[in-house]
Amino acid sequence: MNDTVNVTIDGRAVKAVKGETILELASRQGIRIPTLCYHPRLPLAGACRVCAVEVEGARTLVASCVFPIEQEGMVIKTDTERVLQARRLVVELLLASGDHNCLLCESNGHCELQDLVYELKIERPRFPAASPGHALDHSNPMIYRDLNKCILCGRCVRGCNEVQVNQVIDFGYRGGRTKIVTAEDRSYGDSNCVFCGECVQLCPVGALVENKARFAGRPWAIKKVPTTCTYCGTGCTIDLNIIDGRVVKITGNEGGVTNQGSLCVKGRFGYEFIHHKDRLTTPLIKEDGRFREATWDEALDLTAQRLGQIKEKHGPDAIGGLSSARCTNEENYLMQKFMRAVVGTNNIDHCARL
Ligand code: SF4
Ligand code: SF4
Ligand code: SF4
Repeated sequence: MNDTVNVTIDGRAVKAVKGETILELASRQGIRIPTLCYHPRLPLAGACRVCAVEVEGARTLVASCVFPIEQEGMVIKTDTERVLQARRLVVELLLASGDHNCLLCESNGHCELQDLVYELKIERPRFPAASPGHALDHSNPMIYRDLNKCILCGRCVRGCNEVQVNQVIDFGYRGGRTKIVTAEDRSYGDSNCVFCGECVQLCPVGALVENKARFAGRPWAIKKVPTTCTYCGTGCTIDLNIIDGRVVKITGNEGGVTNQGSLCVKGRFGYEFIHHKDRLTTPLIKEDGRFREATWDEALDLTAQRLGQIKEKHGPDAIGGLSSARCTNEENYLMQKFMRAVVGTNNIDHCARL
């Protein structure tokens, strides 16, 4: 069975895999087609039409993110004047459909709609903006919702329902009144939202943002440092979002092998301990019933000395090690290696074993 077809895309003769979308082919060929409702982790929607392209013989432009390549000899054009005009129209209408005052928006500098306005060289929108007048959602400490900036791409809905399978949000109302709603259109705080933050991670604009990170610093000032979440043994890859040495928010790392960008409420929002004033930052040694601060060298020397004394007096099996699911695999491996090879006992256990 021949599962490839010969097609032409922007004048280039290429082979396409039968059934792949035009967007996938373009991406393999290094041809950029802008998108908004599309996200590689989500089921396809073909909702926003920003990715429209021309296919010779087709009466209308087609949405490249959902259009499968099936026919031999297909001719695709991704950057004709007709295509660019259609994209501009879509983006201008989206811009006019909400309250897009980038100066006041937390996503300024990290917004796919704003990027498209720039990319498509839209100097002045043709249509007057009409804010839908949705109430701001301040109902919880984790997620801030301003649906006046929502472009109804549905990425949050597909993320909540099909990635996290939480079934909390969907499209509500109809026509010009359409909005993203929880059951009975309640606030997030009053709904059955579990605050995984998947919807925030997927939102391409400033409609859903991390509440605690508001006014903490602009996106371009953020330095992202990938690391492993310490809350459980799943070991999700997170990005610490750092400004001036302080973690201002945590986002899921889309390249993370175990989580591909998804996180739970603890991993995404439970980071205030990092800079908490009560956090222990130096080892403590107990002397005469009172703790005193010590250096790491001092604490490690004392621990080695005491373990040596116990081993000499009672044998290695008098010592046991208990490790933690909050450590990485590598740290747990080192712990058992230390107990077996250095201390000389198999007394090693782990809080998540049972
Ligand atoms: S969502 Fe994007 S386009 Fe809208 S105000 Fe915010 S930064 Fe600007
Ligand atoms: S935070 Fe999670 S559960 Fe709540 S609406 Fe967003 S995706 Fe759904
Ligand atoms: S809230 Fe964000 S992700 Fe959800 S539909 Fe609106 S713009 Fe898209």
